[in-house]
Amino acid sequence: MSERLPAAVAGGGIVGLACALLLNRRCGWEVALVERSVPGRSGGRAPQRALTLSPGVAEVLAECGLRHNGSAYSGRGDAGAFGEGAMPLVPGGHAFSRMVVWRGDGPPAPGNSITFDAAELGVSALGCVAYEEPVRRALWELAEQCPGVHLHSGAAFESLEITAEHGLLKLQDGSEIAAELVVGADGGDSSFRQLLGIGFDSRGYGQRGLVFEAESDQSGGDTAWQRFVEGGTLALLPLGAGRWSIVWSLPNARAESLRSLDGKGLGKALNKASASVAGKLVAATPIASFPLRRGLAARICGERYALVGEAARVVHPLAGQGLNLGIGDVDALARVCAQRGSAMVGDARALARFARERARYGHEMSFGIHAINAAFSGPAAPLAARGMAAVDRLPPLKRQLAARAMR
Ligand SMILES: Cc1cc2nc3c(=O)[nH]c(=O)nc-3n(C[C@H](O)[C@H](O)[C@H](O)COP(=O)(O)OP(=O)(O)OC[C@H]3O[C@@H](n4cnc5c(N)ncnc54)[C@H](O)[C@@H]3O)c2cc1C
Repeated sequence: MSERLPAAVAGGGIVGLACALLLNRRCGWEVALVERSVPGRSGGRAPQRALTLSPGVAEVLAECGLRHNGSAYSGRGDAGAFGEGAMPLVPGGHAFSRMVVWRGDGPPAPGNSITFDAAELGVSALGCVAYEEPVRRALWELAEQCPGVHLHSGAAFESLEITAEHGLLKLQDGSEIAAELVVGADGGDSSFRQLLGIGFDSRGYGQRGLVFEAESDQSGGDTAWQRFVEGGTLALLPLGAGRWSIVWSLPNARAESLRSLDGKGLGKALNKASASVAGKLVAATPIASFPLRRGLAARICGERYALVGEAARVVHPLAGQGLNLGIGDVDALARVCAQRGSAMVGDARALARFARERARYGHEMSFGIHAINAAFSGPAAPLAARGMAAVDRLPPLKRQLAARAMR
Protein backbone atom coordinates (compact mmCIF):
# COMPACT_ATOMS: atom_id res chain seq x y z
CA MET A 1 0.00 0.00 0.00
CA SER A 2 1.30 3.45 -0.84
CA GLU A 3 -0.02 6.75 0.56
CA ARG A 4 0.75 10.35 -0.43
CA LEU A 5 -0.18 13.07 2.07
CA PRO A 6 0.84 16.60 3.14
CA ALA A 7 2.45 15.31 6.36
CA ALA A 8 3.61 12.10 8.09
CA VAL A 9 4.82 11.67 11.67
CA ALA A 10 7.23 8.85 12.55
CA GLY A 11 6.72 7.72 16.17
CA GLY A 12 3.51 7.69 18.21
CA GLY A 13 4.59 8.61 21.75
CA ILE A 14 2.77 11.56 23.35
CA VAL A 15 4.80 14.02 21.26
CA GLY A 16 4.18 12.31 17.89
CA LEU A 17 0.46 11.85 18.55
CA ALA A 18 0.06 15.49 19.60
CA CYS A 19 1.96 16.50 16.47
CA ALA A 20 -0.33 14.55 14.11
CA LEU A 21 -3.49 15.86 15.81
CA LEU A 22 -2.31 19.47 15.91
CA LEU A 23 -1.13 19.53 12.26
CA ASN A 24 -4.56 18.19 11.32
CA ARG A 25 -6.47 20.65 13.52
CA ARG A 26 -4.49 23.81 12.84
CA CYS A 27 -3.54 23.26 9.17
CA GLY A 28 -6.44 21.05 8.04
CA TRP A 29 -3.92 18.53 6.64
CA GLU A 30 -4.34 14.78 6.31
CA VAL A 31 -1.52 13.30 8.40
CA ALA A 32 -0.11 9.74 8.58
CA LEU A 33 1.27 8.48 11.90
CA VAL A 34 3.60 5.46 12.09
CA GLU A 35 4.04 3.66 15.44
CA ARG A 36 5.84 0.33 15.81
CA SER A 37 4.02 -0.75 18.97
CA VAL A 38 0.31 -1.25 19.37
CA PRO A 39 -0.88 0.91 22.31
CA GLY A 40 -2.56 -1.07 25.03
CA ARG A 41 -0.11 -3.96 24.56
CA SER A 42 3.02 -3.67 26.67
CA GLY A 43 5.63 -4.73 24.04
CA GLY A 44 8.33 -2.21 23.24
CA ARG A 45 7.21 0.49 25.67
CA ALA A 46 9.07 1.81 28.70
CA PRO A 47 7.69 1.09 32.20
CA GLN A 48 5.11 3.47 33.68
CA ARG A 49 6.31 6.86 34.80
CA ALA A 50 4.50 9.91 36.08
CA LEU A 51 5.25 13.21 34.39
CA THR A 52 4.76 16.80 35.53
CA LEU A 53 3.07 18.78 32.79
CA SER A 54 3.11 22.57 32.63
CA PRO A 55 -0.15 24.57 32.19
CA GLY A 56 1.04 25.58 28.69
CA VAL A 57 1.44 21.93 27.70
CA ALA A 58 -1.91 20.95 29.18
CA GLU A 59 -3.47 23.68 27.01
CA VAL A 60 -1.86 22.28 23.86
CA LEU A 61 -3.03 18.75 24.75
CA ALA A 62 -6.52 20.10 25.39
CA GLU A 63 -6.43 21.73 21.95
CA CYS A 64 -5.65 18.25 20.57
CA GLY A 65 -9.03 17.26 22.03
CA LEU A 66 -8.08 15.64 25.37
CA ARG A 67 -10.95 15.52 27.82
CA HIS A 68 -10.79 15.15 31.54
CA ASN A 69 -13.81 14.11 33.61
CA GLY A 70 -16.02 14.66 30.59
CA SER A 71 -15.05 18.34 30.08
CA ALA A 72 -14.32 19.23 26.48
CA TYR A 73 -11.99 22.03 25.51
CA SER A 74 -13.48 24.33 22.94
CA GLY A 75 -10.49 26.25 21.66
CA ARG A 76 -7.07 27.65 22.54
CA GLY A 77 -7.12 30.16 25.35
CA ASP A 78 -10.74 29.35 26.22
CA ALA A 79 -10.66 28.03 29.74
CA GLY A 80 -14.43 28.36 30.15
CA ALA A 81 -15.13 24.63 30.02
CA PHE A 82 -12.79 24.08 32.97
CA GLY A 83 -13.83 27.09 35.02
CA GLU A 84 -12.52 30.61 34.62
CA GLY A 85 -8.72 30.72 34.71
CA ALA A 86 -8.43 27.00 35.56
CA MET A 87 -5.70 24.86 34.07
CA PRO A 88 -7.06 22.15 31.74
CA LEU A 89 -6.27 18.77 33.23
CA VAL A 90 -5.19 15.65 31.34
CA PRO A 91 -6.67 12.16 31.99
CA GLY A 92 -5.72 10.97 35.46
CA GLY A 93 -3.94 14.29 36.10
CA HIS A 94 -3.57 15.81 39.57
CA ALA A 95 -2.92 19.57 39.74
CA PHE A 96 -0.44 21.04 42.21
CA SER A 97 -0.35 24.63 43.37
CA ARG A 98 2.93 24.81 45.32
CA MET A 99 6.46 23.66 44.63
CA VAL A 100 9.28 23.68 47.16
CA VAL A 101 12.88 23.08 46.09
CA TRP A 102 15.63 22.80 48.68
CA ARG A 103 19.08 21.59 49.52
CA GLY A 104 20.21 21.08 53.11
CA ASP A 105 20.51 18.67 55.97
CA GLY A 106 16.92 18.72 57.18
CA PRO A 107 13.56 19.91 55.87
CA PRO A 108 13.29 23.09 53.79
CA ALA A 109 13.85 26.34 55.65
CA PRO A 110 14.40 30.00 54.76
CA GLY A 111 17.99 30.21 53.54
CA ASN A 112 18.13 26.80 51.83
CA SER A 113 14.98 26.72 49.71
CA ILE A 114 12.82 28.36 47.09
CA THR A 115 9.01 28.16 47.05
CA PHE A 116 6.75 28.73 44.06
CA ASP A 117 3.13 29.38 44.93
CA ALA A 118 0.29 29.53 42.38
CA ALA A 119 -1.68 32.13 44.37
CA GLU A 120 1.38 34.42 44.59
CA LEU A 121 1.93 34.04 40.86
CA GLY A 122 -1.76 34.70 40.10
CA VAL A 123 -2.44 31.31 38.45
CA SER A 124 -4.74 28.44 39.43
CA ALA A 125 -2.03 25.73 39.34
CA LEU A 126 1.70 25.40 38.66
CA GLY A 127 1.25 22.18 36.73
CA CYS A 128 -0.20 18.70 36.94
CA VAL A 129 1.18 15.23 37.53
CA ALA A 130 -0.08 12.40 35.33
CA TYR A 131 0.99 8.93 34.27
CA GLU A 132 2.37 8.79 30.74
CA GLU A 133 0.41 5.79 29.48
CA PRO A 134 -3.21 7.00 30.10
CA VAL A 135 -2.37 10.30 28.40
CA ARG A 136 -0.83 8.49 25.43
CA ARG A 137 -3.77 6.06 25.22
CA ALA A 138 -6.29 8.94 25.26
CA LEU A 139 -4.39 10.72 22.46
CA TRP A 140 -4.25 7.44 20.50
CA GLU A 141 -8.04 7.08 20.77
CA LEU A 142 -8.47 10.67 19.54
CA ALA A 143 -6.21 9.92 16.57
CA GLU A 144 -8.24 6.74 15.83
CA GLN A 145 -11.43 8.81 15.77
CA CYS A 146 -9.97 11.63 13.68
CA PRO A 147 -10.68 11.05 9.94
CA GLY A 148 -7.70 13.28 9.01
CA VAL A 149 -5.16 11.11 10.90
CA HIS A 150 -4.17 7.81 9.23
CA LEU A 151 -2.70 5.43 11.81
CA HIS A 152 -0.15 2.75 10.88
CA SER A 153 0.51 0.75 14.05
CA GLY A 154 2.45 -2.41 14.69
CA ALA A 155 5.03 -1.82 11.94
CA ALA A 156 8.28 0.13 12.31
CA PHE A 157 9.56 2.38 9.55
CA GLU A 158 12.82 1.01 8.19
CA SER A 159 14.00 3.58 5.71
CA LEU A 160 13.60 7.25 4.92
CA GLU A 161 14.40 8.98 1.67
CA ILE A 162 14.25 12.74 1.15
CA THR A 163 13.76 14.10 -2.38
CA ALA A 164 12.89 17.60 -3.63
CA GLU A 165 9.16 16.67 -3.69
CA HIS A 166 8.67 14.55 -0.56
CA GLY A 167 9.96 12.43 2.27
CA LEU A 168 9.35 8.71 1.73
CA LEU A 169 8.95 6.36 4.72
CA LYS A 170 9.13 2.61 4.03
CA LEU A 171 7.55 0.38 6.66
CA GLN A 172 8.46 -3.15 7.79
CA ASP A 173 5.16 -4.46 6.41
CA GLY A 174 6.09 -3.28 2.89
CA SER A 175 3.84 -0.20 2.80
CA GLU A 176 5.17 3.23 1.84
CA ILE A 177 4.14 6.74 2.85
CA ALA A 178 5.16 9.78 0.81
CA ALA A 179 4.59 13.16 2.50
CA GLU A 180 5.56 16.74 1.74
CA LEU A 181 6.66 17.09 5.37
CA VAL A 182 7.96 14.16 7.44
CA VAL A 183 8.37 14.64 11.19
CA GLY A 184 10.69 12.49 13.33
CA ALA A 185 9.08 11.89 16.76
CA ASP A 186 10.66 8.51 17.43
CA GLY A 187 12.37 9.27 20.76
CA GLY A 188 15.93 9.65 22.04
CA ASP A 189 17.38 6.76 20.01
CA SER A 190 15.70 8.11 16.85
CA SER A 191 16.32 6.01 13.71
CA PHE A 192 14.78 8.90 11.75
CA ARG A 193 17.64 11.14 12.89
CA GLN A 194 20.23 8.45 12.17
CA LEU A 195 18.83 7.69 8.70
CA LEU A 196 19.27 11.39 7.86
CA GLY A 197 22.85 11.30 9.18
CA ILE A 198 22.14 14.02 11.75
CA GLY A 199 24.72 14.08 14.57
CA PHE A 200 23.58 13.76 18.21
CA ASP A 201 25.85 15.13 20.92
CA SER A 202 24.98 12.73 23.72
CA ARG A 203 26.53 12.20 27.18
CA GLY A 204 25.54 10.00 30.08
CA TYR A 205 25.27 11.56 33.55
CA GLY A 206 26.51 8.42 35.30
CA GLN A 207 23.15 8.53 37.10
CA ARG A 208 19.94 6.55 37.00
CA GLY A 209 16.42 7.82 37.57
CA LEU A 210 14.49 5.51 39.93
CA VAL A 211 10.72 5.84 39.60
CA PHE A 212 8.09 4.29 41.85
CA GLU A 213 4.91 5.13 43.70
CA ALA A 214 4.73 5.65 47.45
CA GLU A 215 1.83 5.99 49.88
CA SER A 216 1.80 8.41 52.77
CA ASP A 217 0.09 8.36 56.16
CA GLN A 218 -1.02 11.95 55.39
CA SER A 219 -3.77 12.56 52.88
CA GLY A 220 -2.74 16.11 51.80
CA GLY A 221 -0.89 16.79 48.65
CA ASP A 222 -0.99 19.75 46.37
CA THR A 223 2.69 20.56 46.91
CA ALA A 224 5.46 19.10 44.73
CA TRP A 225 8.74 18.72 46.61
CA GLN A 226 12.22 18.52 45.19
CA ARG A 227 15.37 18.07 47.22
CA PHE A 228 18.93 18.20 45.90
CA VAL A 229 20.66 15.26 47.55
CA GLU A 230 24.26 14.14 47.30
CA GLY A 231 24.96 13.36 43.64
CA GLY A 232 21.36 13.82 42.47
CA THR A 233 17.78 14.89 43.18
CA LEU A 234 14.68 13.48 44.86
CA ALA A 235 11.26 14.60 43.58
CA LEU A 236 7.97 13.85 45.36
CA LEU A 237 5.12 14.51 42.95
CA PRO A 238 1.57 14.46 44.37
CA LEU A 239 -0.91 12.07 42.73
CA GLY A 240 -3.73 12.82 45.21
CA ALA A 241 -5.27 10.82 48.08
CA GLY A 242 -1.89 10.37 49.82
CA ARG A 243 -0.20 8.82 46.73
CA TRP A 244 3.14 10.15 45.48
CA SER A 245 5.22 9.52 42.42
CA ILE A 246 8.88 9.35 43.42
CA VAL A 247 11.57 10.28 40.88
CA TRP A 248 14.98 9.78 42.46
CA SER A 249 18.11 10.55 40.40
CA LEU A 250 21.28 9.07 41.84
CA PRO A 251 24.80 8.01 40.84
CA ASN A 252 24.65 4.52 39.26
CA ALA A 253 26.19 2.61 42.19
CA ARG A 254 23.94 4.25 44.81
CA ALA A 255 20.89 3.65 42.60
CA GLU A 256 21.80 -0.03 42.30
CA SER A 257 22.15 -0.40 46.06
CA LEU A 258 18.74 1.24 46.63
CA ARG A 259 17.16 -1.10 44.08
CA SER A 260 18.45 -4.11 45.97
CA LEU A 261 16.71 -3.05 49.22
CA ASP A 262 13.50 -4.69 50.40
CA GLY A 263 10.34 -2.56 50.87
CA LYS A 264 11.18 -1.76 54.49
CA GLY A 265 14.75 -0.69 53.69
CA LEU A 266 13.61 1.40 50.72
CA GLY A 267 10.93 3.13 52.83
CA LYS A 268 13.54 3.98 55.48
CA ALA A 269 15.92 5.45 52.89
CA LEU A 270 13.06 7.41 51.28
CA ASN A 271 11.83 8.90 54.54
CA LYS A 272 15.36 9.96 55.44
CA ALA A 273 15.97 11.54 52.01
CA SER A 274 12.58 13.30 51.95
CA ALA A 275 12.98 14.63 55.53
CA SER A 276 9.36 13.44 55.96
CA VAL A 277 7.95 16.53 54.18
CA ALA A 278 5.15 14.39 52.72
CA GLY A 279 4.53 12.39 55.91
CA LYS A 280 5.68 8.80 56.49
CA LEU A 281 6.06 7.13 53.10
CA VAL A 282 5.83 3.46 52.15
CA ALA A 283 6.97 2.21 48.71
CA ALA A 284 3.84 0.90 46.94
CA THR A 285 5.11 -0.33 43.53
CA PRO A 286 8.24 -1.95 42.12
CA ILE A 287 11.04 0.43 41.05
CA ALA A 288 11.53 1.28 37.36
CA SER A 289 15.04 2.47 36.54
CA PHE A 290 16.09 4.75 33.65
CA PRO A 291 19.67 5.61 32.61
CA LEU A 292 20.00 9.41 32.50
CA ARG A 293 21.68 11.28 29.69
CA ARG A 294 21.48 14.48 27.76
CA GLY A 295 21.63 14.86 24.02
CA LEU A 296 21.15 17.51 21.36
CA ALA A 297 20.63 16.96 17.62
CA ALA A 298 23.00 18.95 15.36
CA ARG A 299 19.97 20.29 13.45
CA ILE A 300 16.22 19.88 13.82
CA CYS A 301 14.93 20.61 10.32
CA GLY A 302 15.79 20.86 6.64
CA GLU A 303 14.04 20.46 3.28
CA ARG A 304 10.96 18.22 3.88
CA TYR A 305 11.72 17.18 7.48
CA ALA A 306 11.63 18.27 11.13
CA LEU A 307 12.55 16.61 14.44
CA VAL A 308 10.46 16.99 17.61
CA GLY A 309 10.56 15.68 21.20
CA GLU A 310 13.41 13.48 22.35
CA ALA A 311 14.46 12.88 18.74
CA ALA A 312 15.60 16.54 18.89
CA ARG A 313 16.92 16.64 22.47
CA VAL A 314 17.07 14.62 25.67
CA VAL A 315 17.31 16.43 29.03
CA HIS A 316 17.86 15.41 32.66
CA PRO A 317 14.46 14.83 34.37
CA LEU A 318 15.33 17.04 37.36
CA ALA A 319 13.26 19.98 36.08
CA GLY A 320 10.46 17.77 34.69
CA GLN A 321 10.81 19.45 31.30
CA GLY A 322 11.47 16.69 28.69
CA LEU A 323 7.91 16.18 27.51
CA ASN A 324 7.11 19.87 28.05
CA LEU A 325 9.90 20.77 25.61
CA GLY A 326 8.64 18.14 23.13
CA ILE A 327 5.09 19.54 23.18
CA GLY A 328 6.60 23.02 22.82
CA ASP A 329 8.28 21.78 19.61
CA VAL A 330 4.97 20.50 18.29
CA ASP A 331 3.17 23.75 19.16
CA ALA A 332 5.85 25.81 17.37
CA LEU A 333 5.94 23.52 14.30
CA ALA A 334 2.15 23.51 13.88
CA ARG A 335 2.04 27.30 14.32
CA VAL A 336 4.70 27.88 11.65
CA CYS A 337 3.01 25.39 9.28
CA ALA A 338 -0.42 27.03 9.81
CA GLN A 339 1.03 30.50 9.14
CA ARG A 340 2.89 29.44 5.99
CA GLY A 341 -0.02 27.43 4.58
CA SER A 342 -0.19 24.51 2.17
CA ALA A 343 1.96 26.14 -0.52
CA MET A 344 5.01 25.93 1.75
CA VAL A 345 4.58 22.45 3.33
CA GLY A 346 8.03 21.06 4.07
CA ASP A 347 9.85 24.09 2.65
CA ALA A 348 13.22 24.50 4.40
CA ARG A 349 12.90 28.33 4.58
CA ALA A 350 9.50 28.05 6.27
CA LEU A 351 10.82 25.42 8.71
CA ALA A 352 13.85 27.57 9.57
CA ARG A 353 11.55 29.77 11.68
CA PHE A 354 10.58 26.73 13.72
CA ALA A 355 14.29 25.90 14.20
CA ARG A 356 15.15 29.46 15.27
CA GLU A 357 12.37 29.54 17.85
CA ARG A 358 13.28 26.16 19.31
CA ALA A 359 17.02 26.95 19.30
CA ARG A 360 16.33 30.03 21.39
CA TYR A 361 14.03 28.38 23.93
CA GLY A 362 14.80 24.64 23.75
CA HIS A 363 18.60 24.93 23.77
CA GLU A 364 18.54 27.53 26.53
CA MET A 365 16.33 25.29 28.69
CA SER A 366 18.42 22.21 27.91
CA PHE A 367 21.65 24.02 28.87
CA GLY A 368 20.01 25.50 31.99
CA ILE A 369 18.90 22.06 33.24
CA HIS A 370 22.37 20.62 32.65
CA ALA A 371 23.97 23.56 34.52
CA ILE A 372 21.62 23.12 37.51
CA ASN A 373 22.46 19.42 37.75
CA ALA A 374 26.20 20.17 37.55
CA ALA A 375 25.98 22.96 40.16
CA PHE A 376 23.92 21.02 42.70
CA SER A 377 25.59 17.63 42.42
CA GLY A 378 29.18 18.96 42.50
CA PRO A 379 31.43 20.55 45.14
CA ALA A 380 29.80 24.01 44.63
CA ALA A 381 26.42 22.71 45.85
CA PRO A 382 26.31 24.75 49.13
CA LEU A 383 26.98 27.93 47.12
CA ALA A 384 24.29 27.00 44.59
CA ALA A 385 21.84 26.46 47.48
CA ARG A 386 22.59 29.96 48.83
CA GLY A 387 21.99 31.38 45.33
CA MET A 388 18.64 29.57 45.19
CA ALA A 389 17.61 30.98 48.58
CA ALA A 390 18.61 34.47 47.40
CA VAL A 391 16.32 34.10 44.35
CA ASP A 392 13.51 33.17 46.77
CA ARG A 393 13.81 36.67 48.22
CA LEU A 394 13.58 38.33 44.78
CA PRO A 395 9.92 38.02 43.71
CA PRO A 396 10.36 39.54 40.19
CA LEU A 397 13.15 37.09 39.28
CA LYS A 398 11.22 34.20 40.84
CA ARG A 399 8.14 35.15 38.77
CA GLN A 400 10.27 35.18 35.60
CA LEU A 401 11.69 31.72 36.37
CA ALA A 402 8.22 30.33 37.09
CA ALA A 403 6.74 31.84 33.91
CA ARG A 404 9.43 30.11 31.81
CA ALA A 405 8.86 26.72 33.45
CA MET A 406 5.06 26.97 33.07
CA ARG A 407 5.11 27.60 29.29
C1 LIG B 1 12.88 9.24 34.97
C2 LIG B 1 12.24 10.22 34.00
C3 LIG B 1 11.30 11.14 34.46
C4 LIG B 1 10.74 12.09 33.57
N1 LIG B 1 9.87 13.02 34.07
C5 LIG B 1 9.38 13.98 33.23
C6 LIG B 1 8.48 14.99 33.72
O1 LIG B 1 8.15 15.03 34.91
N2 LIG B 1 8.01 15.93 32.85
C7 LIG B 1 8.37 15.95 31.53
O2 LIG B 1 7.94 16.84 30.77
N3 LIG B 1 9.21 14.98 31.03
C8 LIG B 1 9.73 14.02 31.85
N4 LIG B 1 10.54 13.04 31.35
C9 LIG B 1 10.85 13.03 29.91
C10 LIG B 1 9.70 12.45 29.10
O3 LIG B 1 9.32 11.18 29.60
C11 LIG B 1 10.15 12.31 27.63
O4 LIG B 1 10.70 13.54 27.20
C12 LIG B 1 8.99 12.00 26.72
O5 LIG B 1 8.27 10.87 27.17
C13 LIG B 1 9.51 11.74 25.31
O6 LIG B 1 8.42 11.64 24.45
P1 LIG B 1 8.65 11.34 22.89
O7 LIG B 1 7.27 11.18 22.34
O8 LIG B 1 9.57 12.35 22.30
O9 LIG B 1 9.43 9.96 22.84
P2 LIG B 1 8.92 8.49 23.22
O10 LIG B 1 7.94 8.51 24.33
O11 LIG B 1 10.17 7.68 23.39
O12 LIG B 1 8.11 8.02 21.92
C14 LIG B 1 8.76 7.61 20.73
C15 LIG B 1 7.83 6.65 20.02
O13 LIG B 1 8.39 6.31 18.73
C16 LIG B 1 8.19 4.91 18.49
N5 LIG B 1 9.24 4.47 17.53
C17 LIG B 1 10.58 4.45 17.72
N6 LIG B 1 11.21 3.97 16.63
C18 LIG B 1 10.22 3.69 15.72
C19 LIG B 1 10.24 3.16 14.39
N7 LIG B 1 11.38 2.84 13.76
N8 LIG B 1 9.05 3.00 13.75
C20 LIG B 1 7.87 3.33 14.38
N9 LIG B 1 7.81 3.82 15.63
C21 LIG B 1 8.97 4.01 16.29
C22 LIG B 1 8.31 4.26 19.87
O14 LIG B 1 7.63 3.01 19.92
C23 LIG B 1 7.63 5.31 20.76
O15 LIG B 1 6.25 5.08 20.93
C24 LIG B 1 11.11 12.08 32.21
C25 LIG B 1 12.05 11.14 31.74
C26 LIG B 1 12.61 10.23 32.63
C27 LIG B 1 13.64 9.25 32.12
